[in-house]
Amino acid sequence: MKSLLVTSLLSLAAALVVWALWASGVLASAQAVFILPRAGTSAVAAPQTSVATLLILAAGLITGLTVERAGARRALIYIGIALLLLCLSSFLASAFFKVDVVFVPVAMAACAAGLAVQVKRLRQTDMELTRNIMCAASEVNQLEGAEAGARLISGLKLLEAVLPLDEAIIFHPDANGQLVPVARTRGKSSNGKIEADRNSTWRAGLQLCERAAESGQIVTATKDAESANRQSSVASVAVPLCHEGRALGALLLRLREAFDESDRPLLSAVGAQLARSFQRDEARKEMHGKAIATFLSRRGSARRLEAFRVVSGLLTEQRFGAEVLSETSDGQAVAYLDGTIAYLNPHMLEAARIEADEAAHVDLFTLLDRFRAGVFDEPTIAVRRVLQTGNAYERELYYPDRNQTLLLRIALCFTRRASDDAEAQPICLAITVRDVTRMKELDKLKSDMISLMSHELRTPITSINGFAELLAMDDGVPAESREFLNIIVSESQRLSRMIDTFLSVTKLEAADKQEVMKIPLKLDDVVGDMVVNLQPLAKKKRIRLVQQPNGRLPPVAADKSLITQCVANLIDNAIKYSPEKTTVSVSTELEADAVRVLVEDRGYGIPPESIDRVWEKFYRVARDGQEKDAETTGLGLSFVREVIEQHGGSVALESEVGRGSKFSFTLPRL
Ligand code: ADP
Repeated sequence: MKSLLVTSLLSLAAALVVWALWASGVLASAQAVFILPRAGTSAVAAPQTSVATLLILAAGLITGLTVERAGARRALIYIGIALLLLCLSSFLASAFFKVDVVFVPVAMAACAAGLAVQVKRLRQTDMELTRNIMCAASEVNQLEGAEAGARLISGLKLLEAVLPLDEAIIFHPDANGQLVPVARTRGKSSNGKIEADRNSTWRAGLQLCERAAESGQIVTATKDAESANRQSSVASVAVPLCHEGRALGALLLRLREAFDESDRPLLSAVGAQLARSFQRDEARKEMHGKAIATFLSRRGSARRLEAFRVVSGLLTEQRFGAEVLSETSDGQAVAYLDGTIAYLNPHMLEAARIEADEAAHVDLFTLLDRFRAGVFDEPTIAVRRVLQTGNAYERELYYPDRNQTLLLRIALCFTRRASDDAEAQPICLAITVRDVTRMKELDKLKSDMISLMSHELRTPITSINGFAELLAMDDGVPAESREFLNIIVSESQRLSRMIDTFLSVTKLEAADKQEVMKIPLKLDDVVGDMVVNLQPLAKKKRIRLVQQPNGRLPPVAADKSLITQCVANLIDNAIKYSPEKTTVSVSTELEADAVRVLVEDRGYGIPPESIDRVWEKFYRVARDGQEKDAETTGLGLSFVREVIEQHGGSVALESEVGRGSKFSFTLPRL
């Protein structure tokens, strides 16, 4: 609305200027050309001022609005046709009706108004372009950690690491266009001796740099120098610092040895990087000033060009990120949130079995389709879950046809947050595929070996236990020996229990999810039974073991004996790791699509660094006086986690040292 008003006012103003010219008689001779008959103009009636004024203003207004609405290109056709018709009518009206339709001022008003509105539109677009490009460039500046000076020095250090460098100097043009040194480094082994002809060497170096900056090419000069006692060839190399075809200075290198031509590409690349740093520094200084009117201003345009170069430099550097991904051993792909693939690395092409020439036509779902497997049969569901929750999706997928196990991960990436309260915006999806076949094989080999050994251990332990029990029953054995025998019996039984737990954990790990026998199970009943069964153990430590009552809970599909064992392990731990006269409470609750079992104690608690590790096999929290506890194996919780994950549930733990722990697990409801 506001824009229409401005357009109307602008068009009227342009028309008014033309009207003023017409009223002052400046356009009279031009108008006479369009009047017939030429001779005897007096025969044609002079137009009424008010009608002519109206005509001129209307022509301006209509043209202005047409340009605003239809755009200059389309409006030009309409205006052209209208003017042609008006020109014709001017001839006819003057010839037959002796009327002057003021063609020239009307045509001029139309052109002036059209031009004014078009200039206004251009200015608007220009301002928007300037705003956006400045904004993009200043974002680059914010990203930049090190300032230009530090970047130059680190660039020189890098060169020092790869070249037999005696000295390196970076030159940059000053306000008069003269090259002046801005950063300098000396090679480690440089003896620092001041050469007699220092001035002439300096001049020669400077000339070399000027040549390089002018030509945009690396220029070399060789000189035979006399070192301690032998003749050797040293070289000076000038590298132009070019960005976007513009030289922003030059890098002069003095080498201890002859220049190796194979270093050329490296030097060009370092030169380009230094140039980008320079350019950014320049742009930063330029953009520091106040915002100036940019339209039709040379300074404004130069500033915009500078900002554009910053952005183009950034684009070049952004490409590095993608190239880095091709170096990882995992398959990597980046997908925009419209499902198009932004990048695929060669390993991903290989894992997805996509030919290089097909890659351009692959989108997110065609890519994920290539990884369909038993537990990943509907890629859209996985993607939807990732997009809705923001949590990564991770699955191990087995492909029997090629005997390969891949770990697939789909994660949503977010923008870096500028400040704590700024909200991170999702930007793209990162898909990673890792080949874990070999790791799986080794893992299986390890488990197989351990279970084989455990089986082998069982037989002798059974014999030891059996015979020790027999001996202990023998009345002829003296009391002291009987005591030893009882120790042998209880220890061998403990060993046997440990082996049993371990075997059940490894068996579970090897098992497929389908192998677990699932029947509808009421978790409340399981918890109730276990609370009753473990009361004697709790009483021994004078611990109050209670079950929090809960309303009706839906059943879950689970293997009763495995889940019972899990609940027993958690309650047993809660009693074991709590001091006397405390309370252990067990409860169940309904969540959105799962049932949760919670075991809460007021015991010793677990330090933060161990919270994630207690679920690992054989992990035991080192606690004063606790390490030597005979009854701990570090297997109980890993068994719980294995069973619960096999059932599609999850385990959780909250704990604070000295205050107690809250272990819980969920199972999907039926
Ligand atoms: P185990 O109890 O046989 O050592 P677990 O796997 O059951 O093995 O437990 C691992 C470790 O976690 C234990 O050594 C113990 O230190 C710690 N832990 C388990 N449950 C609790 C608990 N309720 N309170 C404090 N620490 C616990």
